[in-house]
Amino acid sequence: MIAGGGDSALDWALELSSIAKRVLMVHRRPKFRGAPESVRRLELLAQEGKIDLIVPYQLHELEGDKETGVLKAVHLQDLEGKTMRYETDILLPFFGLSMNLGPIAEWGLGLDRNHIVVDPATCQTSTPGIFAIGDIATYPGKLKLILTGFSEGAVAAHSIQRHIFPGEVYHFEYSTTKGVPVK
Ligand SMILES: Cc1cc2nc3c(=O)[nH]c(=O)nc-3n(C[C@H](O)[C@H](O)[C@H](O)COP(=O)(O)OP(=O)(O)OC[C@H]3O[C@@H](n4cnc5c(N)ncnc54)[C@H](O)[C@@H]3O)c2cc1C
Repeated sequence: MIAGGGDSALDWALELSSIAKRVLMVHRRPKFRGAPESVRRLELLAQEGKIDLIVPYQLHELEGDKETGVLKAVHLQDLEGKTMRYETDILLPFFGLSMNLGPIAEWGLGLDRNHIVVDPATCQTSTPGIFAIGDIATYPGKLKLILTGFSEGAVAAHSIQRHIFPGEVYHFEYSTTKGVPVK
């Protein structure tokens, strides 16, 4: 059973439809939010009976063995409160990511809606000497991409070097011209 209506849910449903004995796709509304091609393929597989679309339904209750953690069935509920029970081996819920800073929220860093505010020129936070990169770091125009995270890694590393060795002459080099050290 796959729950959710976005790209992750769609990707898993499409991939598993050729492997799993049965794929149940649960979504709270008939419209899926994924790439149009994925939605088209999902609907085709549903018509062919390779994926069972269960809409509009939401997860209501899990049934299983508390000791072993093994799932036995999932109870679903529609908007009117009607419930259905499906015997299920595996449930894959895709309801998005929940950002949680945990103890970092208590460090006194400048925050903006659960993200750490950094200076994009250095990736330094509001506390000198503490740097943040990747999805958790924010500044105007931030793009949450792997590429951005890598770039911020380089920016932060350069800033940290200057922070630790202030006044030291710094020679910027490229791996293409300098080469990569071989062990
Ligand atoms: C569905 C989807 C598709 C995407 N597709 C693309 C794409 O095609 N191209 C692209 O460039 N980007 C894509 N992205 C964005 C990309 O995944 C992120 O930008 C990237 O993963 C951010 O890397 P990160 O290391 O900053 O954060 P994450 O990858 O989120 O890593 C953070 C890690 O920290 C762990 N963590 C969290 N809190 C704590 C804690 N308190 N203690 C210890 N560990 C903790 C988390 O479990 C996680 O492993 C996609 C994102 C999503 C959701």
